[in-house]
Formats: sequence, structure tokens, C-alpha cells
Amino acid sequence: MDRITGKTRVLGIFGYPVEHTMSPLIQNQAIIAKGLDMVYLPFEVRPDDLKKAVEAIRALGLLGVNITIPHKEAVIPLLDEVSEEALLSGAVNTVVNRKGILTGYNTDGEGYVKSLTRDTNFELEGKNILILGAGGAARGILASIVKERPEKVIISNRTFSRALRLVEEFRDKFQETYLIAADLSFDTLKRYMEGIHLLINTTSMGMDGKNSVELPLNLLPGDAVVSDIVYKPLNTAIIKKAESLKLKTHKGLAMLLEQGALSFKIWTGVEPPLNMMKEVFIKRLRCIS
Ligand code: NAP
Repeated sequence: MDRITGKTRVLGIFGYPVEHTMSPLIQNQAIIAKGLDMVYLPFEVRPDDLKKAVEAIRALGLLGVNITIPHKEAVIPLLDEVSEEALLSGAVNTVVNRKGILTGYNTDGEGYVKSLTRDTNFELEGKNILILGAGGAARGILASIVKERPEKVIISNRTFSRALRLVEEFRDKFQETYLIAADLSFDTLKRYMEGIHLLINTTSMGMDGKNSVELPLNLLPGDAVVSDIVYKPLNTAIIKKAESLKLKTHKGLAMLLEQGALSFKIWTGVEPPLNMMKEVFIKRLRCIS
């Protein structure tokens, strides 16, 4: 705490709930490693208080914030500007305060694709992709994925209307990819598993170590990649099941680091140390598990 002074710039994360977040750990590690006079704090912001919390970014002179569950879509009308990427996805996960002007970005999609390529060499063009979930993270990921021109993307969500809304928003903008909305039942998933090259879980299921929906991963082709963006636990039930079926996997931690690094660069202009961020994350996870 002795490094905090009157000049220290404050960054943070707005979410509800927010206790689960590991962003303060990795962002503060990057801040210290780079010798910056900044601190990154978690802020529990209830949906009804989001407007006041966004106004507080200006009032308190925060340098910027990450936005997480469930505010990524709701925050957009409260900002002054939104990047093209964030506008396309309809979700913001990073806000920067430049002299009172609040600009929203989405680093989830780019972070996801960068980490997927780095970990698995997967090429999205011409592929069939099944995305579980239609929330803020799914929006960012979909916006980045469709730019690579996959053949088909199925959005499968517990609340079907939300999947349909997402597909309808994207259908006109990306006509080269066949977009399908589906529910998240076992029978529906069974119908779609065959011929899928990449399955991505973007739902929050698995954060408690369990899945609320049974997934017929055994019906995926043997060369399919299974990706789970949930990062706590490190090896989710989906990742464990995919590994037991000898499928290639891509874990949430890889995306967390990449999207966090992109946010860090937006706020500070500095490249953060990914390896140190990863080390501190794994060390903390070992302590709490
Ligand atoms: P969100 O906007 O609140 O969306 C949550 C999604 O999960 C919705 O599709 C929701 O379906 C679904 N869902 C929630 N509980 C479920 C359950 N029990 N069974 C089935 N589906 C369920 O949240 P988000 O921002 O997209 O984040 C989603 C997850 O991704 C969180 O676990 C978050 O920690 C993780 N995440 C990871 C990274 C990373 O860098 N690795 C980045 C962003 C997010 P309904 O529409 O039916 O409610």
C-alpha cells in the first residue's frame, strides 16, 4: 500500500457479482511489473446503479474500467463513444476515460481469437462453429470470429430468444457465414454436434465446477477443438470431458490473459508481461483450490 500516493491513477472492474474476478490480480501484477503509478480495484455494481457508477468514472477521475457480468450490453448507451468492434458486437468490456470522454472497447473477441490461434493454430475460415451462450462474451467473440469467414456458426443459448436476437443482428452484416440460433437442450445439441470443428462455451456454467446442461461432446469429430472461456476452475468440467475424449482444448485462462493485455494497452499504452500475469494467476489458483 505504500506505493499509493495522491497521484496514483485508479483502474477497476464493474460487475455483479464481482468477487469471482481474477482481473485485479493479473492487472495489478502487470502494473507493478511495469512500474506504473496505478492500482486496479474490483467494484460491485448492481444493475440499478450502473448509470451512477459510470458517472463516477468521470467524477472520481478513474483512468478506466473493465466491464463484466451482467453489464457489457447495458453500459453502451451510458458512454460518449464506442469503438467499431464494440458497436458491432453490441458489448463493451473496457472503458477508458480521456479527459472526461468515456470510450468503450471490446477486447474479448480479439483476445479470444489471438489466444485460440496461439494455443491451437486453429484457422476459422471455412469452419463450422458451435457457440454455447449469447451473452456479452459471446457477442464479442462472434464479432471477431465472423470476420474470419467461417462457413457456419450456431449460437445455442438457454434463453432461445437471446440467441435469435444475436443471430438476427449479425445476419445482415455478415452474409458469407450461415448463422443459426438454437436452444441449449441436450437433444438440440445432439443434432448439431456432427461436423463441428470448434465448440466454444461462453456461458457461465462451469464456474462452480459443474455443468447445468449435459453436452454430447462424444458426437464431435475426433479433430474438433473444445474451447471453454470459463477460467476458474482452470480445468472446467467441459475441458476435462473433452480431454478424456482426446479432443484438443483451449482454456479460458489463455483468453483472460490476452483480453486483459489488450485492455491494459488501451489504458496505459504499455505492453504487459503475459508470462508474469499467468504465473501469478496459477499460483493464486493453487492456493485457493
Ligand atoms: P453474461 O453476459 O451474463 O452472459 C451469460 C451467458 O451464460 C448467457 O448466455 C446465459 O444464458 C448463460 N448462462 C448463465 N448461467 C447458465 C446456466 N446455468 N446454464 C446455461 N447457460 C447459462 O456473461 P458474459 O460476460 O458473457 O460471461 C460469461 C462467462 O464467460 C462468465 O463465466 C465469464 O467469467 C466468462 N468470461 C471469460 C473471459 C475470459 O477472458 N476467459 C472473458 C469474458 C467472460 P441466458 O441468456 O439464458 O441467461
